[in-house]
Amino acid sequence: MIEAKSQAEIAIMHESGRRLSGVMKLLYEAVRPGVSTLELDRIAENEIRKLGGVPSFKGLYGFPASICASINEVIVHGIPGKKTKLKEGDIIGIDIGMCYNGFHSDMARTFAVGTISDEDQRLIDVTRESFWNGLKFAKIGNRIGDIGHEVQRTAESAGFSVVREMVGHGVGKKLHEEPEVPNFGKKGHGPRLIDGMVIAIEPMINAGVKEGKTLADGWTFVTADGAKSAHYENTIAITQEGPVALTEFEVEL
Ligand code: MG
Repeated sequence: MIEAKSQAEIAIMHESGRRLSGVMKLLYEAVRPGVSTLELDRIAENEIRKLGGVPSFKGLYGFPASICASINEVIVHGIPGKKTKLKEGDIIGIDIGMCYNGFHSDMARTFAVGTISDEDQRLIDVTRESFWNGLKFAKIGNRIGDIGHEVQRTAESAGFSVVREMVGHGVGKKLHEEPEVPNFGKKGHGPRLIDGMVIAIEPMINAGVKEGKTLADGWTFVTADGAKSAHYENTIAITQEGPVALTEFEVEL
C-alpha cells in the first residue's frame, strides 16, 4: 500500500534529509586517493549518530555497514572495506540513509577521486541530469512511469544504459516502502502520484551494457561488462507546490 505522509511528517523527513545531506558533504570532503571505504563508513556512522540519527542501512537485510561504497564498475551495494582504497581516477558512488525521529531519508552521489576522464565525468553528469529531468514529472496526478520514462530518455539519448534490476522506492517509517520507482518505463503507466507521497528516485546508469551481476559476497552488484556505473539519488516529496527534494547536497561545479 502506498501511504501518503502528512505535512508534519514531511517536515520531519525534510529535517532527516537536511542532516543526511550534511553527512554527504563530509564524505565528499573526505574522498581522495588513499582513503579506504571503511574510513568513509566510520565518518558516516559517527556523524549520523552525532546528529541524533541511526544509520538506515546497517543491519538492513543483513548489510554490514552504514554506507554502500561502489567504485567504478560497481553499480550499487559495495561493502566498505579497510583494504578497499580509493585511487586517483576512480569514481565512487556513495549511498547513505538515516533514520531521524522515526523517519528515513536516503541519498546517493557519485564523486570523482582526484582527476577523472572526461567520459567518466560525463557519466556522472548525465546520471545527475537524468534525476533532475525525471523529477520534473514527479507531480500530483502523473504516474510513476512518467518519471522513469524521462530518466531513461535522458540516459539513453546520451549513449548510456539504465540498470533494470535495481529501482527506487517509497520512503517513510521504513527505508523501503511501496511503490517501486523504476528508472525506465512508459509514460502514463504505474501507480498514480498523490499529494504527500515520498519516494527515492535513484538512477543507476551504466557506460556499457545495462545488465549487472552480483558478486560472491552476495551484495556487490557490478556491471556485466566491467564498464563504469554512476548513481545519484534524492528522497523527494510530492506536494501541491510540486516535487520537493528532501536531500540536497550538490558538488560545486
Ligand atoms: Mg534508495
